[in-house]
Amino acid sequence: MKLELQDLVKKARQSRRELRGVVVALLVLGCSAHLAFAHSTINVLPSPAPAPAPRVVAITKSEPDAALRTVHLPGAWMPPSRRGCVRTARCNATRRVPQPSRKDAEFAASLGLGDDHTARTLLEEPPRAEWVAAVGSTPVAGMLWPVAEGHFGRGVGRTRQRPLSRIPHEGIDIAAPVGADIHAVNDGLVAYSDNGIHGYGNLVILVHADGTTTHYAHCSATFVVAGQRVRRGEIIAQVGATGLARGAHLHFEWRRGPSYRDPMPFFVGAVLRDRTVVAVGPAIVGAVD
Ligand SMILES: [Zn+2]
Repeated sequence: MKLELQDLVKKARQSRRELRGVVVALLVLGCSAHLAFAHSTINVLPSPAPAPAPRVVAITKSEPDAALRTVHLPGAWMPPSRRGCVRTARCNATRRVPQPSRKDAEFAASLGLGDDHTARTLLEEPPRAEWVAAVGSTPVAGMLWPVAEGHFGRGVGRTRQRPLSRIPHEGIDIAAPVGADIHAVNDGLVAYSDNGIHGYGNLVILVHADGTTTHYAHCSATFVVAGQRVRRGEIIAQVGATGLARGAHLHFEWRRGPSYRDPMPFFVGAVLRDRTVVAVGPAIVGAVD
């Protein structure tokens, strides 16, 4: 009987030791599992983005060249109103665009340039390869600031005020007096010069050698015709407030079909007024009022 009791006590001690062993094993397993989980969590975290490299903008002498400042006023203007754009409530625009010569009109038509369909297509598709080839010059990096008298007003993106704050602004606004000259930012082929696109008023669209297009909207008048080649710096239009515009400004877009880009970091050269630099590439943002 005594022996049996001693056996029982021994077995109880042994099973307690085994239980302690199981608990310790469980604890070790739990810790390693936790560590493994923690490790895997660290692995999926994205690595921090590298700091953006500082952007250097070359300040060159004021462009464009004086030779390109000459305005080639058209010999004749198109009729001031057109079908669908007669009511000012719809277009808010006095049509002021040149009448192309017959030869120019035929050339533009042979390339499929100049009509409202062309303008709408260039908001949705990149320019055709033959239009890009017809620019006839090699791409030049950087763009000229298009209005020497202009001040940066509104940028690209969700920069509008309510109730339009959800609609992205696909270009930049450059405030300037009515009649201020608008220069081509690069060599280009005129794809459109008319006022048939709702909201844009008198509008010029240029196709460039790098396959991008630039759009100059709300002009008081345009001086170029579709199919014409223009040089970097050439005066192509004047600032106005036609189309959906509150006050005189140039609405400028830089695009490749449906994708539009912020042009601000790509402007080069200085714009002078009274021998004072008022605009230099990206430095103009927020610096001029
Ligand atoms: Zn705008």
